[in-house]
Amino acid sequence: MPKMAQPHDHMSVEQLINPHEDMLADTPAQAAGPAYRGGDNVAALEALRDPASRCCRCDLCAGRTQVVFGEGSATAQLVIIGEAPGEGEDRSGHPFWGRAGQTLNALLDEAGISRSTIWITNVAKCRPTAKNGNRVVNRAPRVPEIKACEIWRLGELDIIKPKIVCCLGAVAAKYIVGRDVKMTQERGQWLPFTLPIDGMEKTEVIATYHPSYIMRQEGEAYDRIKGQAAADFAAIAARLNALGEVA
Ligand code: URA
Repeated sequence: MPKMAQPHDHMSVEQLINPHEDMLADTPAQAAGPAYRGGDNVAALEALRDPASRCCRCDLCAGRTQVVFGEGSATAQLVIIGEAPGEGEDRSGHPFWGRAGQTLNALLDEAGISRSTIWITNVAKCRPTAKNGNRVVNRAPRVPEIKACEIWRLGELDIIKPKIVCCLGAVAAKYIVGRDVKMTQERGQWLPFTLPIDGMEKTEVIATYHPSYIMRQEGEAYDRIKGQAAADFAAIAARLNALGEVA
């Protein structure tokens, strides 16, 4: 039977005590090195993933099994950004791999968007946990954790420079749009945003419900919220098609 990854499997004691020098980098380009600006998105993302996988910029590094970096197409026109890895993602190393991932996959399928053509990531790349009695449970990422992860999030977007960014839920939307976003009022709309990234001036940003929020609904509310999220993904697919035609 394959061995399950355990917290710190990927880190030596020295790395935990003395964070690697690339943890002192101020920008994604500094952290990743020359490949970042080499013109090959796959190589640039790998160069960024490498220091990110050793990141100790916030306390979440102590409890994670592994860093869950974004994954998908390095030339994606659509980037989907969620909140933070949960247990399934922390174990597997893949974003949106657990139950929320299945709901996301269903929405993508229904809209005719193939997961292999897009990039999927999170605003925080390590699983935030809390204790509930003896159980370790998922929790929402805290502001300092999300801020500490900014270098990796901005780097992914800077390399890919997608035409569309879709934020799943209010937490992701806040850190992409740059202000609190009220999901019930603003989901499904193209939102003005501020990101300090050259070349993303024409990128369009939209927010929809987080799959975990959809899964928590019941009865009529579930049908309504899931229907609204499906309509938002249909709008994204239509916009991608339109942008493809004018590109
Ligand atoms: N899985 C993720 O990767 N991100 C979320 O926000 C939730 C589940």
